[in-house]
Amino acid sequence: MSAPFSWIRPEPQGIYIAPADVWVDPSRPVPRALVTHGHADHARGGHGQTIATPATLAIMELRYNTREGASPVAYGESVCIGGDVTATFLPAGHVLGSAQILLEHAGERVIITGDYKRAPDPTCTPFAVTPCDIFITEATFGLPVFTHPPIREEISKLLKSLTDEPESCVLVGAYALGKAQRVIAELRASGHHDTIWLHGAMEAMCRLYEQHGVALGDLRLVSDAPSKEALRGSIVIAPPSALNDRWSRRLPDPVTAMASGWMRVRGRARQRGVELPLVISDHADWNELTQTIAEVNPHETWITHGREEALLRWCELGQRRARALALVGYEDEDD
Ligand SMILES: [Zn+2]
Ligand SMILES: [Zn+2]
Repeated sequence: MSAPFSWIRPEPQGIYIAPADVWVDPSRPVPRALVTHGHADHARGGHGQTIATPATLAIMELRYNTREGASPVAYGESVCIGGDVTATFLPAGHVLGSAQILLEHAGERVIITGDYKRAPDPTCTPFAVTPCDIFITEATFGLPVFTHPPIREEISKLLKSLTDEPESCVLVGAYALGKAQRVIAELRASGHHDTIWLHGAMEAMCRLYEQHGVALGDLRLVSDAPSKEALRGSIVIAPPSALNDRWSRRLPDPVTAMASGWMRVRGRARQRGVELPLVISDHADWNELTQTIAEVNPHETWITHGREEALLRWCELGQRRARALALVGYEDEDD
């Protein structure tokens, strides 16, 4: 008999499941991959076979033109991936299609969360707390200083800026996968039903969300606006990279906003020339991370993908077994 959990191996380029010869979120192309969600630091093109939720596969097809070798697995469905290993995809509440992956082998249960959050999000299925022996958690915002306010407060700030400056428009920087659609859906839920104008880079992903049942209301492209004047008093959503480039000159006196968990850090907002920082994150904040570890209550927690040290310390202080993993290639495309 082999040592407990020796079948699952954290390697610098991803997590390797030896008996099945499968990688989870590998940072380079491999013959067979399990992919937690569509963000670029987890989902890469070029794998021989990609096992993921249908929405994640659709996102990958849109971004990388990968249609071949796609094996869809629905939430809650278990599949044998070879070597007597079973994989079950569970909702992670991060973006559309995002999953935690539960792996079972020889009576041992390991969960790899990918990215996740616990805060409500109308654009994706909520995180499912599931018992396991080893819980491999992300730690993007793994410091006590990171607390994300309720999203409704941030959306109210955005709407207030719109009414305070009716001659301007509010330009919101938001990542094209997840953040943009969540901001739009929350604006709709807050009663804002005006046209929302999009940068061209946002369009395809918004349509994909709508095809997956997430209603986003009246969206139009800035390039289709009849005049600059037509944009006054409106919300415009663009990728963060477009906030300060030539593209934004076509907008009437924009107030620059940015929706990101990093907006908690004043210096980051200033650096980007953001006048209206909106602390909106699709990752668990410190309280959600610790709450989740407590609720899942695994035998051991492995911490990766961010600021591991503080969370490691928190586990140790609570007499919880934990270790930090050093995986490479993960960045916050998706903060
Ligand atoms: Zn992500
Ligand atoms: Zn990530």
